[in-house]
Amino acid sequence: MSDLAILGGQPVFEKPLKPYSSISKKEIEEVNKVLKSGCLSGFFGSWEEGFLGGPLIQKLEENWSKKFKVENSISFNSNTSGLFAAMGAIGISPGDEVIVPCTTMSATAMCPIIYGGIPVFADIDEEFFCIDPESVKSKISSKTKAIVAVNLFGHPARLKELKLLAKKNDLYLIEDNAQAPLGKEDGELAGTIGDIGVFSLNYHKHIHSGEGGICVSNDKNLATRLQMIRNHAEAVVGPSGTNNIINMVGFNYRMTEMSAAVANVQLKDINQHVSKRVKIAETLSEHLRDLEGIHVPRVRKDCSHVYYVWSAKFDEKIIGVSREVFVDALNAEGFSCSGGYVEPLYNLPIFKQKIAIGSSGFPFSESKHDYKDDKCPVAESLYKDSFLLFQPCSYEISSNDVEKLVEAFRKVYENRSKLRVI
Ligand SMILES: *Cc1c(COP(=O)(O)O)cnc(C)c1O
Repeated sequence: MSDLAILGGQPVFEKPLKPYSSISKKEIEEVNKVLKSGCLSGFFGSWEEGFLGGPLIQKLEENWSKKFKVENSISFNSNTSGLFAAMGAIGISPGDEVIVPCTTMSATAMCPIIYGGIPVFADIDEEFFCIDPESVKSKISSKTKAIVAVNLFGHPARLKELKLLAKKNDLYLIEDNAQAPLGKEDGELAGTIGDIGVFSLNYHKHIHSGEGGICVSNDKNLATRLQMIRNHAEAVVGPSGTNNIINMVGFNYRMTEMSAAVANVQLKDINQHVSKRVKIAETLSEHLRDLEGIHVPRVRKDCSHVYYVWSAKFDEKIIGVSREVFVDALNAEGFSCSGGYVEPLYNLPIFKQKIAIGSSGFPFSESKHDYKDDKCPVAESLYKDSFLLFQPCSYEISSNDVEKLVEAFRKVYENRSKLRVI
């Protein structure tokens, strides 16, 4: 075996892994049909035919509902838009608190703010990395209105437990399911257990349409509100005879017919798109499980993990070098990975300085909530020293590449004592 690449040796991969491309002839043909038709969006922002979008949008929503066994699917131009609309649909109002995990993509924590709501951060659990119901419990106050659970890295949060907790405290449970399409808890699909589940179709996710998002709900009333907020609600609440007009300022969160055309094809192939990533992650785990000090991702009993991220834990005390150096050495071999994920979100300047909306600190100035003292110890420690993350969704990975990923990892691990000089 040659020297470590970071010390001048030959890297395991001669060339970096190629970015993943899931676009086939089928997607191209379908988009071309839309372009040739000349109608690139069928939406109208008034109460008439077209309010719910054109033919491919409606087909996508119908197909999505069938695939995920839900009553209503509402397409958006992103998961972020879907999350914002979800907060509007459940009636979040200034001063309401929404409990969110501190470790997630930032949009999860921003969604209450759009309606003057206040995100309150809960810790994640150290085995499966999703929002910890015990931490959620300790954050519930008289102002709490909802919990947003994130099925982080492709593993479902403790959704049933959170649903019970939400019910007991008269709260909504929203699922940010951007990373876990086809993930399951006790046979039930992630994203379909909460009152509203939000999926992402952005370029980096398991399936995509460039940009896009889908909200699902079995509650007809919430579904209607989501449709309205997506499309200039204020203009249609009169003619539609809507009763509940709270938060009915609408946006333009509409997806184009071209994106819907791509999404329809991707949805048809979703099982293959997901199982490919699962296989890569499981192979990695299988061949690295024996390494002392490396904890490959675990799967909770009766759950399915879909591995948006292969999330290992690194034990510096056992391994004897810092995670940073180890990650650098892996990258030098061509094993593209990272440490940390995101810093706990309460550390963002807009929270620390309470200036998310306007310079006066609204809405936080009205609230006793102060982020200065926020501390989620599990999330902090995973971020600082332990997470070692690889994204199977980002790269085109052949079975030969998987073998090389294993080889690169074992090479760095076995030669780690040489890294002490760095
Ligand atoms: C990707 C992602 C989002 C944002 O999705 P967009 O479709 O890009 O808006 C939100 N939450 C999580 C957990 C994500 O991974």
